[in-house]
Amino acid sequence: MKLRHITLGFEKRLTDGAYGSELASAVLEAELDLGDDEDDAAVALMAQARTFVEAQLQQSRSFAVRSHVEPPERRCSRCGEVLPDHLRGERHTQCPRDQAAASPTALLEAMVAARGGPRELPPPAPDDGLELEELPF
Ligand SMILES: [Zn+2]
Repeated sequence: MKLRHITLGFEKRLTDGAYGSELASAVLEAELDLGDDEDDAAVALMAQARTFVEAQLQQSRSFAVRSHVEPPERRCSRCGEVLPDHLRGERHTQCPRDQAAASPTALLEAMVAARGGPRELPPPAPDDGLELEELPF
C-alpha cells in the first residue's frame, strides 16, 4: 500500500519567564505522487513546520522566549570549547586543559578527538627536481 497523503503537526510552547508562555504551531499537508519517497517527504515537511514555528517565536517581544528558540552555545569555563548537550555542568568532566598539565600530547589528542578525529593532510606537492637555491623567488 502506498502512502498518498501526509499531515504533520509541530508545536512549541516556550515560557516567557514571567508566568506566561507563548505557543506557535503549524499543521502541514502534502500529497505524494507515485515515486515520491515517503520518508524524505515527511522529513522535509517536519523541517518546514519547525522552521515556520521557530521563526514565529523568534519574533516574540520576550527575550526569554527568543533565547529558548536559539539557546546560546555553552562553553567550558576552563578550556573554552563548546560543551556537548549531555554535559550539564559548566565545564568538561575531563577537561583537555587539565589533561594538558599531565601531558601536552594528551591535550592535542583530546582537541583532535573533540573536532571529530584527525584530518587527512593534502598530498605533498610533486618534486620538481629543483634544489632550494635554484627556485625562482
Ligand atoms: Zn574544558
